[in-house]
Amino acid sequence: MCAVVPLPLPAGWHDLKPGIVYLIGAGPGDPGLITVRGLDCLRRAEVVVYDYLANPALLAEAPAAEHIYVGKSAGCHHRPQAEINLLLAELAAGGKIVARLKGGDPYLFGRGGEEALHLQQQGVPFEVIPGVTAAFAAAAYAGIPLTHRDFTTSLGLITGHEDPTKKFSSLDWEKLATGVGTLVFYMGMANLGLIARELVAHGRSPQTPVAVVRWATTPRQETLTGTLVDIAQKVQQLGFKPPAIIIVGAVVSLRESLRWFDNRPLFGKRVLVTRSADQAGEFSALLEEQGAEVVECPTIRLVPPTDCADLDAAIGKLATFDWLVLTSVNAVHFFFARLAGFGLDARALGGCRLCAVGPKTAAVIRDQGIRPDLIPADYKAEGVVAAFADQQLRGKRVLFPRADKAREVIPQGLRALGAEVVAPVAYHNLLPTELPPAALAALEGGEIDCATFTASSTVENLAQILGAERFKALLSGVTVAAIGPITAQSCRKLGLEVAIEPAEYTLAALTNEIVRHFAI
Ligand code: SAH
Repeated sequence: MCAVVPLPLPAGWHDLKPGIVYLIGAGPGDPGLITVRGLDCLRRAEVVVYDYLANPALLAEAPAAEHIYVGKSAGCHHRPQAEINLLLAELAAGGKIVARLKGGDPYLFGRGGEEALHLQQQGVPFEVIPGVTAAFAAAAYAGIPLTHRDFTTSLGLITGHEDPTKKFSSLDWEKLATGVGTLVFYMGMANLGLIARELVAHGRSPQTPVAVVRWATTPRQETLTGTLVDIAQKVQQLGFKPPAIIIVGAVVSLRESLRWFDNRPLFGKRVLVTRSADQAGEFSALLEEQGAEVVECPTIRLVPPTDCADLDAAIGKLATFDWLVLTSVNAVHFFFARLAGFGLDARALGGCRLCAVGPKTAAVIRDQGIRPDLIPADYKAEGVVAAFADQQLRGKRVLFPRADKAREVIPQGLRALGAEVVAPVAYHNLLPTELPPAALAALEGGEIDCATFTASSTVENLAQILGAERFKALLSGVTVAAIGPITAQSCRKLGLEVAIEPAEYTLAALTNEIVRHFAI
């Protein structure tokens, strides 16, 4: 231990708001495994100090905070612990709310105890928010109950990271080998052979099942099983690398019955989602539920029109319209946002009837407190026109706020039915200038299994951003999924072969078809 030197307090520190350090367990990898309290403290932080094993995706929860990485980087070792201790104390003494985000649980093999002691010695307030530790998470996600009445009633959490030349001096192998049922080793990969030999040498059956789980709870999770006799050799043969947890004990045999995470239909598949950033979430969630690793690659950026004169004129004469046709969630959002900009709400629609295309569009319209009058069964533009065939449109006024690049099928079709159609642009589909680096790297590395397109513009824009040749080269060998026939046609026009096309044009149906395709 180094000597404790109290930090000089900043001049005028009494005027500062009191700083605090939250030692937060970030969980094992899946960002959803942070606790509610942990997330709450993270969101309040002004500075986030984080480690290698804390999922950086969590940083998005504190976008305005300063982010300081103190984990190991390529070829380089961890920042010395004493330096991290000083940094935390200094930040909080300067009045900052500090989130110290640590992988798993802060007090389990994470040196959180040392950090807390330093803060206590410096008189810096701190709180500790426990996290889901890697042992518990790896076991749960690999299908291994760490205790089970028929197998074991005790559990040991052990560090396997000791200097091999010290021969694990501090571990009492005799007691561990036979005195504890399930043994879980952290940081034990380099010493796996030694660990297995010591356990057998001290009386544990050589046939004891062992599981090694790496990158637990993430889409990269891999599990290798064996026995104390062969596990080290298997790990070496397969080049199985840290970070990994080693689980030793009869409970490991339950994995075959209790797997649920890594046997989901799309586990291990990387799926490209090309929808706009604000729309990708729902589709990504559907795919992730099936086990896919989603790579978001927005090819569309939606923005309000620069010239709203037509839309505003229509809103100014809302009372003169008989029908309002909204064909997408985006159209609903942009239309009602503009309405709200005039201090108006759904009541301004008065006697106007409403046509919603697609169940999601209908749902967001209901969120506005309006029950749609017409929901065409077929969501294609042609289907919308067909649904109006028996609505007596002759002489009626129809307002159709739409995207700038929308097809003319609906306005033309409704005019042919005798309606007067006003179709102002409610939003623009813009082309992003580049793809997110992670998506581009995955495409270039041939790591994408399936590319999804949920509108013609998504595939057309991707081709445009990448350039025709590169587009074809990067997507060759990738399974292409299109939401409906129009999108599929656009894919084919650009030289892609469409392997997945659901009968119903919804995200849920598209997800089901992707699952079915990869199950075969
Ligand atoms: N405080 C952390 C442990 C830090 S020690 C916790 O409570 O989980 C680092 C070790 O944790 C790694 O060497 C590895 O053994 C384990 N570990 C952390 N995250 C892991 C993960 N996602 N999958 C497998 N092992 C993990």
